Amino acid sequence: MKKIILVTGGSRGIGAAVAQGAAEQGYAVCISYLHNQAAAEAVVATIRQNNGEAMAVQADVALEDDVVRLFRQVDATWGPLSALVNNAGVLARQARVDEMDSARIQRILATNVIGSFICAREAVRRMSTRHGGSGGAIVNLSSRASHLGAPGEYVDYAASKAAIDTLTIGLSKEVAAEGIRVNTVSPGVIYTDIHASGGEPQRVDRVKEAIPMKRGGYPQEVAKAVLWLLSADASYTTGATLDVAGGR
Ligand code: NAP
Repeated sequence: MKKIILVTGGSRGIGAAVAQGAAEQGYAVCISYLHNQAAAEAVVATIRQNNGEAMAVQADVALEDDVVRLFRQVDATWGPLSALVNNAGVLARQARVDEMDSARIQRILATNVIGSFICAREAVRRMSTRHGGSGGAIVNLSSRASHLGAPGEYVDYAASKAAIDTLTIGLSKEVAAEGIRVNTVSPGVIYTDIHASGGEPQRVDRVKEAIPMKRGGYPQEVAKAVLWLLSADASYTTGATLDVAGGR
C-alpha cells in the first residue's frame, strides 16, 4: 500500500527535513505552508528530482476550513494518509507575560494547539479502524520549553507546547486500539528560522553552553527521531515523548 504522509509546515526547518527524509523512505509527501510558497516549492522540487512524490499546499492550520481542504487535497491526489506530522508552529517576539496582549496569545494557541488538534482529528477520521481506516501514526512536535517555561521569552509558546504534550497522552490512549500510534518529539534548540521570529536569530548560539552537549541541534537530527516514531520499528511505542535536545 502506498505510504502517504502530511507534514504541516514543511517548507522550512524541521518540517522540510522530515519531508525530505520521508520521501527517501518512499512516502508520497504532502507539505503544507503558510506564506512561503517559494520555499515549499523548492522542497517539492528537490524531492521530485530524487524521483520522489511530493506536493505543497497552502493552508493555515489555524483555520479549520483550510485544514479540511488540505486533507481533502491529499485524499483526492493519493488517497487516505497513513502518517501525520503536526509540525507547523510559531512563536512571537521575546516578551514577558506582563507585556503580552491577547491577540498574540490567541495566534500562538490557534496555530500550535488548535491547528494540531484539528489536523489530528482529520487524520484520525481517515486512519482509525473505527472509521474504516487501516491505521497510521501521528507525531506531534512539542518543545523542551513545555517543561522549562521559557521565562522572559515566550511563556505563551511554552504553554502551547504543554498542551501538545497532553494532546499526545490523551489521543494516544483514545486511538491505541484503533491502529493509530501517537507520539511526541520534543526538540531543544535547533538551528532554524524560528528564532528570528522571536527577534533573536542567533539565539541557539547564545544558549548552547547551557546544553549538556554544548551545541545546538540540526533539523535532520529531529527528523530522524520523527521518522523512527512513524516507522514500524516503533510498532509498540505510543504516547511517548522523545527528547532531541542534546541532554536535559
Ligand atoms: P520554522 O523554521 O519557523 O518553520 C515553521 C514552518 O511552519 C514553516 O513551514 C511555516 O510556513 C509553517 N507555518 C507557520 N505557521 C503556520 C500556519 N499557521 N499554518 C501552516 N503552516 C505554518 O520552524 P521550526 O523551527 O522548523 O519548528 C518546527 C516545529 O518544531 C514547531 O512546532 C516548533 O515549535 C518546534 N520546535 C522547534 C524548535 C527549534 O529550536 N527550532 C525547538 C523546539 C520545538 P511558511 O514557510 O509559509 O512560513
